[in-house]
Amino acid sequence: MKKKFLSAFVATMMTMVFLCGCGAATAGEADNGGEASKETLIVGTNAAFPPFEYVGDDGKPDGFDIALIKAIGEEIGVEVQIQDMEFDSLVSSIGNKIDVAIAGMTVTEERKNMVDFSDPYYEAVQAVVIPKGAAIATADDLKNKKIGVQLGTTGEFIADEIEGAEVSAYNKAVDAVNDLNNGRVDCVIVDKNPAEVFGAQFADQVEVVAGENFDFEPENYAIALPKGDEDLAVKINTALKKFKDNGTYDSLVKQYIEE
Ligand code: GLN
Repeated sequence: MKKKFLSAFVATMMTMVFLCGCGAATAGEADNGGEASKETLIVGTNAAFPPFEYVGDDGKPDGFDIALIKAIGEEIGVEVQIQDMEFDSLVSSIGNKIDVAIAGMTVTEERKNMVDFSDPYYEAVQAVVIPKGAAIATADDLKNKKIGVQLGTTGEFIADEIEGAEVSAYNKAVDAVNDLNNGRVDCVIVDKNPAEVFGAQFADQVEVVAGENFDFEPENYAIALPKGDEDLAVKINTALKKFKDNGTYDSLVKQYIEE
């Protein structure tokens, strides 16, 4: 009995030594190997912005942006590691927690003070999600309304300018839509593509009014980059151009946005 226990103990210890040894060796190898072959590019996103980024069935971030940055990583020879975080923290995390960010992020002058942007890769516009049949159809109808937005987004910046609007900012756009369904806000201003996804998801309760009715300006999505990193900017822009020329970009649009 005692002997059996002892051998089980020894076996356990040996397994632990073996596992620890393996772990350390793997980590070491990954480090050295990373330097020698593939560098890691840590990419920040906010996986709550379908169809550009969302959490896939396997629990991992997926979507147009994720597929695009993975293809770019492959093209420029870096290992892409996705870091899911709040949208509002992305810009300030570049250069410390993350290397770059892809998150359906609109190029704005304010953000350009803190980060550089790649060439734009998608033209977007805001849209308004309303309860089915609600009388909100023009810019005037937004005045004095309770408006839900996602924190730190262009939707929020627009809502803040609307006369008499009472703006509620949420970490996730879908939380704003949930509050629309609960009657806590009158409408939600969010980028058109996610608005349409939410429109389909809550088809019994909401409808989406196109941004054109409200004179929203067109916006450009781009990858946010560390300020002054010309080298990385050139690599990413060259890959983007290649993908636009060779059909990779279009096939991702078909797969994720037009499906
Ligand atoms: N395009 C919007 C912005 O950049 C929203 C992006 C997002 O919520 N992921 O502010």
